[in-house]
Amino acid sequence: MRRSAPVRAVLVLALAGALAACAEQASPPAAADAAPSPVPADTASVSADVYRFRIGGLDAAVLRDGDIRVANDGKTLAVGVPKAEVDALLTRAGEPTDTLQLAVQALLVRSGDRVLLFDTGAGAAEFADAGRLQAALRAAGVEPGQVTDVFISHAHPDHVGGLTGDAGQAVFANATVHLSAPEWDALQAEPANAALVAAIAPRVEAFAPGADVAPGVTAVAVDGHTPGHSAFEITDGDARLLYIGDAAHHFVISVQRPAWTIAFDGDAPLAEASREALLARAADSGVTVASPHFPYPGLGRIVRRDGTFVWAPLQ
Ligand SMILES: [Zn+2]
Repeated sequence: MRRSAPVRAVLVLALAGALAACAEQASPPAAADAAPSPVPADTASVSADVYRFRIGGLDAAVLRDGDIRVANDGKTLAVGVPKAEVDALLTRAGEPTDTLQLAVQALLVRSGDRVLLFDTGAGAAEFADAGRLQAALRAAGVEPGQVTDVFISHAHPDHVGGLTGDAGQAVFANATVHLSAPEWDALQAEPANAALVAAIAPRVEAFAPGADVAPGVTAVAVDGHTPGHSAFEITDGDARLLYIGDAAHHFVISVQRPAWTIAFDGDAPLAEASREALLARAADSGVTVASPHFPYPGLGRIVRRDGTFVWAPLQ
């Protein structure tokens, strides 16, 4: 048991209430045919919070929402691991050892007539310095009402916080909201989520874990973090992108030491096994990965090194 009951209680409260990278720099692997390529920032709709790229023929953009900072105290990330071990890992990666920073970012994909958004950021959640998603979306040339499909990896507040506005209204008023059936069931079962459930229920389409959820979008069940946590694979022809959700949180700790759990994993042993399996899948396939929490823009690859993995950000 690496998580004390009080700590867990605090976290559960935090989740229920508000809700709720480098590594030894890896050399980037040889470019694969399916790799996204940055699009020249030559339009007025580009800002520091919008990173445009392509998935095959699809226009895509990472939308920066903000950051979450947590103390490196063994209570949130690398739960129960001696601090000296965590510090040594971070130091080798050139990272500070006092505070751990997680980016918060969503993924926008334009596919024909459809405008797809993967996760919605933290909104006004107090635990994050975030809430820039709508501005980033507009900077990318999209009004919230133009989003046709929102795909939710899981119902923690840094992923669903942007679904509703200050008055509790649905921000993406014309979008179908896709999330897995077990995640939707769990969300509805928590009384603290009643307002969110009421706002989005008319537009929710729950999918079976692992289902093809839209043309070119397949859910990937990654069990353990929440009851129905899902990654998403986005394809266009031979091009593929794997949006990993919260299969991994920190680009050094979670990738190089996948067994060092985060306190928000609902079923830590299962989440650890899922994290390792997803990292192996990503490394062995060479797929381009998009992470909502790795340093902005959170695009890169997972590479095997020294019996474990490292994050290789796209250059
Ligand atoms: Zn998260």
